[in-house]
Amino acid sequence: RAKKHLGQHFLTDQNIAGKIVDSLSFEGYHKVLEVGPGMGVLTKFLLQKEAEIYVAEIDQESIVYLKEHYPKLEAQHFVGDFLKINIPEVFGEELAVIGNFPYNISSQILFKIIDNFQYIPEMSGMFQKEVAERTAAKPRTKDYGILSVLVQAYYDVEYLFTVHENVFNPPPKVKSGVIRMTRNLKPGLTGNEILFKQIVKAGFGQRRKKMSNSLKVLGIPEAIKSHAFLDIRAEELSVADFISFANEWKSSL
Ligand code: SAM
Repeated sequence: RAKKHLGQHFLTDQNIAGKIVDSLSFEGYHKVLEVGPGMGVLTKFLLQKEAEIYVAEIDQESIVYLKEHYPKLEAQHFVGDFLKINIPEVFGEELAVIGNFPYNISSQILFKIIDNFQYIPEMSGMFQKEVAERTAAKPRTKDYGILSVLVQAYYDVEYLFTVHENVFNPPPKVKSGVIRMTRNLKPGLTGNEILFKQIVKAGFGQRRKKMSNSLKVLGIPEAIKSHAFLDIRAEELSVADFISFANEWKSSL
């Protein structure tokens, strides 16, 4: 029986499961980590690929089920809670991440992926539709925000397709969306990531206000107070705009 507090909604459509797995390229890495395999609907397709499959699952009942039904999964490839594992320590090399993710921890999963972008060249997976749309959103749209800018600073994001509630057991309350993220570190980001993240978060803190207003909390340095960027609202600025402003801010200090 599905456990609500673990965000368990099991996908019942084999076609969709196959499509999600096929959306990874399986090129340039040997290891693939599936987050939240549950009863293994994606795992079954993953095990047909030429890759070493790892699974992060916290539900004991699912773990017992997976060990019984998928003997190809190696015991030492069960790595526990995705939010707690140390990616470089456990894998020691690049890996792809895939999953029909537990929706109660969607943002934490995405933030963990960008924190480990050096190890994760590719990610494909399902989130609640709203989170998938926010991650892929472009400037001047209602979905564009912190998640869009932070993720797209490290990855190109494609919204692949929408999945209806009725192909899950039990059906979730909302639709789902599948996205693919391909690592593409945007120029200029390296070395100034902390300030960049602070500016993005503060900028969207008051999304209808000009940046001059939203960024007051950070104490804008005197030298850049007349920068044109400050006259614009966060939702109109591109990822590249945020990066270059963060860099001008840093060099003015
Ligand atoms: N992949 C399966 C499917 O498509 O039917 C299950 C998807 S279900 C939406 C999410 C799964 O994530 C559940 O099996 C749940 O136990 C697991 N889970 C929840 N929190 C987790 C965490 N922190 N780390 C790893 N797995 C987690």
